[in-house]
Amino acid sequence: MNVRLLKAPDRPEEAITVAAKICYSDKTFEEIERQVTRESAYKFVRMLKSLGHDSALEHVSFTFGIEGISRAATHQLVRHRLASYSQQSQRYVSMEHADFVMPESIAGSEQARQLFSSCLEMIRKTYSELNNLNIPKEDARYILPNACMSNMVVTMNARELLHFFQLRCCTRAQWEIRDLAQKMLDLVQQAAPVVFENAGPECVRTSCPEGKMSCGQAKQMRIRYHTHSAQNE
Ligand SMILES: Cc1cc2nc3c(=O)[nH]c(=O)nc-3n(C[C@H](O)[C@H](O)[C@H](O)COP(=O)(O)OP(=O)(O)OC[C@H]3O[C@@H](n4cnc5c(N)ncnc54)[C@H](O)[C@@H]3O)c2cc1C
Repeated sequence: MNVRLLKAPDRPEEAITVAAKICYSDKTFEEIERQVTRESAYKFVRMLKSLGHDSALEHVSFTFGIEGISRAATHQLVRHRLASYSQQSQRYVSMEHADFVMPESIAGSEQARQLFSSCLEMIRKTYSELNNLNIPKEDARYILPNACMSNMVVTMNARELLHFFQLRCCTRAQWEIRDLAQKMLDLVQQAAPVVFENAGPECVRTSCPEGKMSCGQAKQMRIRYHTHSAQNE
């Protein structure tokens, strides 16, 4: 899977700070903007986050290009309703030469890999035959599997991203969407280090919400996702 950050705001911490300070100020945007420095914005965003005043985080959005993700994972992704999506259409794009995602559990077993591959080969062949019978792509696609690769563009604001990372960086999330979430997190941490400081599964900041289903690795996760760095003070 290939994930790229297609669009990110300039100086997101400063944009969030200006937006939030408007609530408490009689000054103009320009006056507030002039007063906000990178350092003061970092401090202010940390304070907002610690108080749970998260609505100002909605003023910055990030757009990702995702290639080579399975339809199984995109179905999980689009359950996140506070995001915008554009997905390659199986109605308009022929899947005759589509690629498929093979989970490692299958790739790692000779017998399972052969079964999986021969089934996909049969699906490819049948899809092609349906095409030759002039069956529209939108109907031929009914035989396609969850493994089918897809491309997407996704836009989420920072508040929704933090929520998405809480759910999808968690070890309880499936490996593919977890891989996606991790790649997205790595990208946004470069673009907005303080907004996404210590972002990750819920156990990084509070306790594990999974009860009996907990992986029991909260301590390790806190160490892994702890990103607070002195250079951002
Ligand atoms: C490990 C894991 C296993 C899962 N297993 C299943 C499963 O077996 N079956 C299944 O169907 N789903 C499953 N899901 C999907 C899950 O139920 C959610 O649909 C998905 O994670 C999106 O979460 P969300 O609704 O919090 O997020 P978003 O849609 O991104 O919404 C963000 C937040 O906005 C608020 N919000 C959004 N829309 C509304 C609304 N209409 N009304 C009120 N508040 C709203 C909520 O506070 C919500 O948490 C699973 C998810 C995970 C992470």
